[in-house]
Amino acid sequence: MARRKKIYEGKAKTLYEGPEPGTIVQYFKDDATAFNAEKKDVIEGKGVLNNLLSEYFMLGLGQIGVPTHFLKRLNMREQLVRSCEIIPLEVIVRNYAAGTMSKRLGIDEGTQLPRPIVEYCYKDDALGDPLVTEEHIAAFGWASQQDMDDILSLALRVNDFMSGVMLAVGIRLVDFKIEIGRVYDGDFQRLVVADEISPDSCRLWDIETGQKLDKDVFRRDLGSLTDAYSEVARRLGVMPNNPPAPSKPTLVN
Ligand code: C5P
Repeated sequence: MARRKKIYEGKAKTLYEGPEPGTIVQYFKDDATAFNAEKKDVIEGKGVLNNLLSEYFMLGLGQIGVPTHFLKRLNMREQLVRSCEIIPLEVIVRNYAAGTMSKRLGIDEGTQLPRPIVEYCYKDDALGDPLVTEEHIAAFGWASQQDMDDILSLALRVNDFMSGVMLAVGIRLVDFKIEIGRVYDGDFQRLVVADEISPDSCRLWDIETGQKLDKDVFRRDLGSLTDAYSEVARRLGVMPNNPPAPSKPTLVN
């Protein structure tokens, strides 16, 4: 059997050359990292859950006409995606204050924002992904003004879609991060939502209890990450056939 070519290994995913030109196989690992990889662990089952959840969100976005890189899921850990050139920005949309915004501006976590706020961070691990403005993005040529208009529109459409999907299952979409890729069709380029959308890249809080169902469970040592992600998958009806075993015994009445 021929060994496939690894293109890139990131913190949570590995990319391999796909079967056709212009395609990539995206493999979801169980590795969890936080605080720019200062905190690390392997969480059994996380990759499977994120693969299924990201497929669910990307397919849903495709159905409402938001272009994504997703082509199809190949198996429990891998999906086939269109190869694209990733714009070196993390696009963050916030509906409620939390995380670095709360820290930076001294706003209590959970405070509803007057409108969705979009932030851009320059993707560079060595620099800790610093927050940048559109001035930096234009001056350093990371994206054109047309790209920025398209990125803003994509980010807000993803926010509307994800907020609605989550609200329907009793979950508040506090914030999330997406990455945007350029796809070339002959002389034309278009922008697509790339990478992944999963509880690794969103803040998701139960509307009733405020329970965190996202990567903050790992970042802040709040319990079992797979239990939290499995709960999101269960509510959305996206459960693997053999879900990861619960970390604690469950009492049955
Ligand atoms: O840490 P911060 O509050 O800026 O994160 C905002 C949102 O972006 C969170 O949902 C977080 O999970 C996500 N994020 C991410 N990858 C990063 C930084 C933030 O997915 N490198």
